[in-house]
Amino acid sequence: MAVYLARNCPKCGNYWGVTIATSNGSGYQPVHGRCATCGYKIAWALFTS
Ligand SMILES: [Zn+2]
Repeated sequence: MAVYLARNCPKCGNYWGVTIATSNGSGYQPVHGRCATCGYKIAWALFTS
């Protein structure tokens, strides 16, 4: 499963889709964001434990 968020791109201000992959209880959630307009990308991780 994954959670999709709609944000504004920090670079160009257009629609920016962020995907959060839900973990299976490990407490680690990789987060990926990519702007379809300018190609700006981010990748980080959430530690929820
Ligand atoms: Zn952008």
